[in-house]
Amino acid sequence: MPYRYRCHACATESNLCSWPAHARAVRREHRRIAHGGMRPAAGDRIVHAVPSVRGPAWTIGILLALIVLKELTGIEPADIARWAGIL
Ligand SMILES: [Zn+2]
Repeated sequence: MPYRYRCHACATESNLCSWPAHARAVRREHRRIAHGGMRPAAGDRIVHAVPSVRGPAWTIGILLALIVLKELTGIEPADIARWAGIL
């Protein structure tokens, strides 16, 4: 689950971080730059972020497109991968 750092004093939040350690590093860097290394009085926190649905949606879309391509043309996804030089 991705994480996100939020600073309530600055009303800002970080980009998504895959790991808690990365979010803590973002917090440490933000505190150093924006607050002189101090904890903001209004508070800040690292929260679980809702993962984007775009990643799985793209994967499902590509798989469906490959299935339709195979059914219509008979071309296997492995043939496309070989043609593209992936395999
Ligand atoms: Zn701040």
